[in-house]
Amino acid sequence: MLLSFLAGANLSAQNKSSHPDLKIENKVDSVLRLMTLDEKIGQMTQYSSSWDLTGPPTDVSNEQRLQNIKEGKVGSMLNVATAKLTREAQDWNMKNSRLKIPLLFGLDVIHGYKTMFPIPLGESASWDLKLMEKTAAIAAKEAAASGIGWTFSPMIDVSRDARWGRVMEGSGEDTYLTSLIGVAKIKGYQGDDLTAQTSIAACAKHFAGYGFAESGRDYNAVNIGIHELNNIILPPFKAAVDAGALTFMNSFNDLDGIPATGNKYIQRDLLKGEWGFQGFMVSDWGSIAEMINHGYAKDKNQAGDIAVHAGSDMDMEGNVYEFELKKLVESGKVDIKLIDDAVKRILRVKFQLGLFDNPYKYSDEKAEKNNIYTKENLDVSLEAGKKSIVLLKNENNLLPIKSSVKSIAVIGPLADDKDSPLGNWRGKADPNSAVSVLEGIKTYAPKGVKITYAKGADLSTGERSFLRPMTINQTDKSGFADAVKLAKEAELVILVVGEDAFQSGEGRSQTDIGFAGVQDELIAAVKNANSNVVMVVMSGRPMDLTWSDENIPAILETWLLGSQHGNAVAEVLFGKYNPAGKLTMSFPRNVGQLPLYYNQKPTGRGDEIQDVTYSAYRDVKRDALYPFGFGLSYTTFEYGKIKLDKTTLPKGGAITASVEVTNSGKVKGEEVVQLYLRDLVGSLSRPLKELKGFEKIELNPGETKTIQFTIDEKMITFFTANQKWEAESGDFKLFIGTNSRDVQETSFYY
Ligand code: BGC
Repeated sequence: MLLSFLAGANLSAQNKSSHPDLKIENKVDSVLRLMTLDEKIGQMTQYSSSWDLTGPPTDVSNEQRLQNIKEGKVGSMLNVATAKLTREAQDWNMKNSRLKIPLLFGLDVIHGYKTMFPIPLGESASWDLKLMEKTAAIAAKEAAASGIGWTFSPMIDVSRDARWGRVMEGSGEDTYLTSLIGVAKIKGYQGDDLTAQTSIAACAKHFAGYGFAESGRDYNAVNIGIHELNNIILPPFKAAVDAGALTFMNSFNDLDGIPATGNKYIQRDLLKGEWGFQGFMVSDWGSIAEMINHGYAKDKNQAGDIAVHAGSDMDMEGNVYEFELKKLVESGKVDIKLIDDAVKRILRVKFQLGLFDNPYKYSDEKAEKNNIYTKENLDVSLEAGKKSIVLLKNENNLLPIKSSVKSIAVIGPLADDKDSPLGNWRGKADPNSAVSVLEGIKTYAPKGVKITYAKGADLSTGERSFLRPMTINQTDKSGFADAVKLAKEAELVILVVGEDAFQSGEGRSQTDIGFAGVQDELIAAVKNANSNVVMVVMSGRPMDLTWSDENIPAILETWLLGSQHGNAVAEVLFGKYNPAGKLTMSFPRNVGQLPLYYNQKPTGRGDEIQDVTYSAYRDVKRDALYPFGFGLSYTTFEYGKIKLDKTTLPKGGAITASVEVTNSGKVKGEEVVQLYLRDLVGSLSRPLKELKGFEKIELNPGETKTIQFTIDEKMITFFTANQKWEAESGDFKLFIGTNSRDVQETSFYY
């Protein structure tokens, strides 16, 4: 009976109703019982794209890989991404393997598959959770049709160091906001019905601590204590489990001496034990074998032993489980129960996704053509793009561009770049498929406005390889003369500078977060020629904008906004959309301040921002140039006084805090009203401020809204010195404001 069930399963779509009475767990057990040790280890093995024989050279030849699929020794593949190729690979597996367990195809669908949305750091600045869920759902729909049933996203590593290239991939420095965004993304990818053709498995990564790589150097060691780990790094992951994330990925870094991939405490005891995670853990690329480089395992055999005990269920392109697990089981070092547990987790996810009922569910050539770059998808990309833009400075209301302006010079190395807006980790986006800023300006500029363009300089050689050399920055200034001439002739300059797509991302850490190449000189030359400059910064990280802030009248941070980049920027420039983005990472005054974050802990020597205190730097102020939560608007908002319905938070009860917010300007605008708390005395020293709530509102000119926040015990609960999640009694400060720095405060007692 069981065999016929499996045979039926591979007959795919027509046979969806086979054994609908069996609960998933029973099905998983039934399959497991049929499996040989080789087949079990196969489920725990993931290969990269060699189906079309284009994969990078590895320990296993492509021919051998095909043979291994045939023998049921492969459970998943990554980077095979077209409907045709995934169908062929699945077919090869279904026709040849003994048990016909469907392959699961994974890909990094991080901020879009074909239609690109803003890079995650940018999108997080929208503080719009529904929108972030929607963009994830579209990415899933587009990718699914190409056979992708699993995205390695969301990255929910809290990160505080702009030198780290992967800050572009996360949601910034705040734990609470990152948790909410992670949940929104998981909902978007996985949808309400996992068996739907458009629902794909999410992967919460990287477990854990990767965003705290020391000195922002990728893959570096992470040295944090147990309290910081629990209070800052782990909550987004716990939220991901609660939201039903089907998979997790561990991380490359060592965590207080133990590589995360081999860390039993976080994976097996905490995640799978205490938190009850039922899905599976994939290693990061080769991270099991990398434990040898970490000096934590002497060879692949020991690395496999450590990883499987720690709770890594699937080996991503590491060839460790493939070659070592069998020996480990046969020698008695690894109990078969551990293998069974890992395999059950993997099978469970495949059942949950409905792959046993239809192994070809995702590979759909027709949908692959029809689902991508649709008007609907591009419209959402435009909406996400404009909502992600942060207005950092707007002296004399230079923006929005006035209707009296009749000539605009668009200048800069990124101004007509149609590729950089797609960002790094760009799924399978067509190169150069974004709208450039110049194109957007031409589309949105009122009739009769003269638009001129000069590149001014090249940013880099355009090198994009993973090991991008250090010497890529351009030094050629021959384009300056033209740029200066056009700047002089125009009434207004839009200067588009920053980072190209491949200056951020994995392996792209930098010690200099200023403008690469000759951009600084170009900016100064243009500013000298015409002081009416709007600077459009495109970047994958917070940059050092101190000089610009002192010298340039208007600055927009636009990140890398995806397919509709130029249109989104133009809507903001011409005032069709009033910018409302708020930073989710502090912009430092210079790189020397890093790591920098708003929710620092107090020092013993005073923490006043402006004053010369012992804990300040001697050369710059200690706070951010632009703090977390900061972003301007074309209108102004006035905050009334905070009102509390009571000043003591009763056990099991709540306090209501309310504040009136009025649009005191002349145009409609959105505002993110932010609530922060501070626990004044605790069993551990507590941060000076922590985001605990926010509401994004829209107000017409003159309109007032009352915003209410409910403060309960959950909001003040933290991982205490008792190493338990507890709320401790005492005095608290409550802040409400327009960003983490500009707040008003009151207090309550618990
Ligand atoms: C990255 C992961 C990614 C994986 C697969 C690794 O290098 O750290 O985030 O999902 O590659 O592409």
